[in-house]
Amino acid sequence: MAYAYDPTNIFARILRGEIPNNTVLETEHTLAFRDIAPQAPDHVLVIPKGPYATFDHFSNEASDAEILDFYRTAGQVCKMLGIEPGEGGMGFRAITNSGEHGVQDVPHFHMHILAGRVLGRMLSRG
Ligand code: 5GP
Repeated sequence: MAYAYDPTNIFARILRGEIPNNTVLETEHTLAFRDIAPQAPDHVLVIPKGPYATFDHFSNEASDAEILDFYRTAGQVCKMLGIEPGEGGMGFRAITNSGEHGVQDVPHFHMHILAGRVLGRMLSRG
């Protein structure tokens, strides 16, 4: 199955500079910015600049350089926020929702990094 990507999605528009964002960190292949509707005191979205719709799309089709840059940037964001457990931080949750059952709203692959409060159990039963 070929992966599809819709370039009209809101994160593609952010990457094109059509709408503003609150950038935390930008690298050659990756952008990290604050979520517009934070669900924790720290809520950062990490996205690849390339056109990947979901976690599996990115993992299967992105270049080694893009994947390395994405994960290094996510790790750097954790350092910048001071949330690393064992390094004086109180920990965090990294989530990526994919597709309908994953309840993904924006069809551009992204990782949520949530921190700053106890986040509760991973899944509700709803
Ligand atoms: P999803 O449900 O796809 O995993 O998460 C999408 C996230 O994108 C949500 O947490 C939502 O608040 C965030 N979001 C949607 N539109 C915008 C926007 O225009 N700017 C920013 N910074 N975040 C957005």
